[in-house]
Amino acid sequence: MKLSKFGKKFTGTAGITSLMDDLGNALASGQDLIMMGGGNPAHVPAVEAVFKKRLEKILNDTESFRRLIGIYDPPAGNHDFISALVSLFRKEYGWDISEKNIALTNGSQSAFFSLFNMFAGEFDDGTFKKIRLPLAPEYIGYADAGLNKDFFVSTKPKIDTTGENRFKYRVDFHSFDIGSETGAICVSRPTNPTGNVLTDDEIVKLDALARQHKIPLILDNAYGFPFPGLIFKNAKPFWNENTILCMSLSKLGLPATRTGITIASEEIIRSMAGINAILNLSTGGFGGMLAMDIVKSGEIIDLSNNVIRPYYETKLNKALKIIKKEFQGLDYAVHEPEGAMFIWLWLKDLPITSLELYERLKRRGVIVVSGHYFFTGISSSYKHRDECLRITYSQNEAKVSEGLRIIAEEVRKAVQ
Ligand code: PLP
Repeated sequence: MKLSKFGKKFTGTAGITSLMDDLGNALASGQDLIMMGGGNPAHVPAVEAVFKKRLEKILNDTESFRRLIGIYDPPAGNHDFISALVSLFRKEYGWDISEKNIALTNGSQSAFFSLFNMFAGEFDDGTFKKIRLPLAPEYIGYADAGLNKDFFVSTKPKIDTTGENRFKYRVDFHSFDIGSETGAICVSRPTNPTGNVLTDDEIVKLDALARQHKIPLILDNAYGFPFPGLIFKNAKPFWNENTILCMSLSKLGLPATRTGITIASEEIIRSMAGINAILNLSTGGFGGMLAMDIVKSGEIIDLSNNVIRPYYETKLNKALKIIKKEFQGLDYAVHEPEGAMFIWLWLKDLPITSLELYERLKRRGVIVVSGHYFFTGISSSYKHRDECLRITYSQNEAKVSEGLRIIAEEVRKAVQ
C-alpha cells in the first residue's frame, strides 16, 4: 500500500500505539494479570448509580430518548449542555464566559489534535512552529498528535527533593526559552503520568510568558477542578482569554461517551467548531445528556469532591503505605502525588532500563508503564528517562499490594 505522508505518519509506530498494543496483548494473553498500567478511570459504584438513574430517566421519556439517539448536535456541541457548563463555571469561578466560549469534542484527545495543528506546523509565511511542553514527563497522548514530525519541544524538569523518598518536578524557567518557533504552550495539570500539579505560581508565570509571546497557553485539566476534582492539594483553577482550558468527562467515569470540553476565546471556539464539522460532522451528545442534570444542579462538584476524590485518595494512601514497607532499603523516590490517578516511581541508578524492568514485571504478571514513553522531545541520553515507572493504583487492594510487592522484589533483584 502506497501511503501519503499523513498516511505514513498516522499508521507508523507511535509511542501511544505501541504502548496500547503491548497492554492489549498482555491482557489478551489470558494470564491472570495485575493490571497497574492503564489510564482507565475506576468503576466507582456511587458514580455509576448516578448515571444509571439518569439513563433510566432518559429512557422513560420519549422526547429525551429521541434527543439521546436521534439528533445531530451542532459542531460545537449540544447547546443546552454548553449553557449548563457556562452557568457552572460562571457561578463557581466567576469566569466571564458565554456559550460562545465553549466547544465540545469527541473526547479531549480530539481537542488536542485540533488545537496542536491549529497553532503549530507550517504557516503561510513558510515558518514552522512547534508546541512547547514546559516540562517532560508529560502525557503520552500528545506525542503523536501533530501532522508533522518534530512537532514538540520540551524541557527537562527541575527535580526537587521534597522529603524522604519524595520529589517533585518543577518547570525550569531558566532553561525555558520561548522563541518565535513556539506556536503554543501546553501542559497537563494534574499531569499524567506523574501526578504533579503545577503550582499557582508556575501557572501565572507560564501565562505571562504566553501573553508576552502572543501565543495561547493550553491547560489540560482532564483530572482537575471542578470535575473530576482529582487534586489532593490547594490549587487555583485558571482561565483567561489567552488560556485554552481542556476538560473531559472521562475521568469522572464516562470515558466511553468521549466528551471533551474546551473553554477558550470566541475566535478559537469558532475554529474548533469548524474543524469538528469537517472531521466529525457533529459532536457526540451522549456524555452531555448523561451529565446534564448534575451539571445544572452543581451535583457534579459534590460528586467530585465527596465521592471521586476520596475514592482515589484512600487507594493512593494505602498504596503509598505499601510502597514504604516493600521498598525499604531501596534507592527510590515517589513523585509528590498531588493529583490524577497514578504513582510515579523513580528508581535511582537502576542498572537496567525501565523498559527492561517492565518486561521482567510482565513476565511476573504485573503490568505497569515504563516511564521513558512520557519524555517527549527529550534526548535518550537523559538517564532519568529510563529510571521511572507509572503505576496505577485503582484496582482492588489485594492486587495492588501484591503488584507492589512484586515490583519491589524485581527492583531488588536488578540492583543486587
Ligand atoms: N489529557 C490527559 C492528561 C489524559 O490523561 C487523558 C487520557 O488519559 C486525556 C487528556 C484524554 O482524555 P479523553 O480524550 O478521554 O478526554
